[in-house]
Amino acid sequence: MAQERFDLILQGGRVCDPSQGRDEVADLAVRGGKVARIEAGLAEKAEAQQVIDVSGKLVVPGLVDLHTHCYWGGVPLGVNADKIGPASGVTSWVDTGSAGAGNFEGFYYHVIQRSKVHIYPLLHISHIGLLAITGLSVRSGELFNFGYLNFHELLRVGEKFRHCLYGIKVRASLNATGPNSLDALTFARNAADALELPLMIHVGPPPPFIEDVLELLKPGDIVTHCYTPYHGGVVDHRFRIKDVAREARERGVLFDIGHGGGSFSFRVAEAALEQGFPPDTISSDLHSACIEAVVDLPTTMEKFLALGMDLSEVIAQATHRPAEAIGIDAGTLRSGAPADIAVFRFEHRDTPLYDSAGLERRSSRHLALETTFLRGEVVTPVQDDRSEAAQESAFPLSRTREAR
Ligand SMILES: [Zn+2]
Repeated sequence: MAQERFDLILQGGRVCDPSQGRDEVADLAVRGGKVARIEAGLAEKAEAQQVIDVSGKLVVPGLVDLHTHCYWGGVPLGVNADKIGPASGVTSWVDTGSAGAGNFEGFYYHVIQRSKVHIYPLLHISHIGLLAITGLSVRSGELFNFGYLNFHELLRVGEKFRHCLYGIKVRASLNATGPNSLDALTFARNAADALELPLMIHVGPPPPFIEDVLELLKPGDIVTHCYTPYHGGVVDHRFRIKDVAREARERGVLFDIGHGGGSFSFRVAEAALEQGFPPDTISSDLHSACIEAVVDLPTTMEKFLALGMDLSEVIAQATHRPAEAIGIDAGTLRSGAPADIAVFRFEHRDTPLYDSAGLERRSSRHLALETTFLRGEVVTPVQDDRSEAAQESAFPLSRTREAR
């Protein structure tokens, strides 16, 4: 019998794919840019154009980051996903409202269509998206001026780009909406309903409080920055999970991390995990003003390993769970899925990790990227001389990159 032929076999790695409940040493075969088969000992009995020995390495689906900002060159917060993605194993980037109706077209044609990694945008309800936020003017929120809310334009652009839109975004916090937060929430709810898209709401410094936000959310909607250090998040002043948060989870509202510059607290995370309220998804909220502190999604995942979460659960929350949250075919190694794959190695060394307040926890396992594959091909970071970090940071943070 003729030997079966594949384009590529990753041989002998620990294949961890929570979407299939897999965590085993096996060979992973790729054909035609798709995952063909996962089977122990496959490389010995099949033919492949290329066999890569990944023994001792961790083979996972290409990571899916549910909260990023990658409209580089279009809004000051944007980072280049083609530079950071291949260097961190993140093959699917959900851009959470960098663009609004007024600047979405440029995002689509200049960035999304040209990117090697996959970008899945949410549309911001503010006409200007996140253009207002720069290192110098972080206090001028995108909805301080209510003139930036135009329902007609939002629907026009939303309908035009419906084929590539995955949700509606609003930042519901004092620094984004000023005193307009409740009106902004109502507007966002109506926009998401009209376009039949999930709604992602950022919580932060109140108002609004999370009670006002959760009341509006439907099954499948997402709260991001769920472990925010600000009063207004999922825990009360005694660090107890609020009943409204548990009720919202029961009816299908999703809770996302969205680490970012000011939105992740180890103390809140520890309290929530202890009380049985883990996140649904782990995301970085990577942007130019926080990249030096947050670094990337694997670094954010490491924080949950350091807090005692299982590896397979951490991987689930950065692969198939976020993919399912916005309905994309990613974050899985089941046969027939796009062969977007990340190969990591564990480095066992004592590493300091920081939350948004600079609080430190230690990790003994560092997830170091080995190789990123997009549709079965090795992908490397774009090289240019542009800095992804903002010239002047909006957030006075401890810089983990230097410490690592
Ligand atoms: Zn964000």
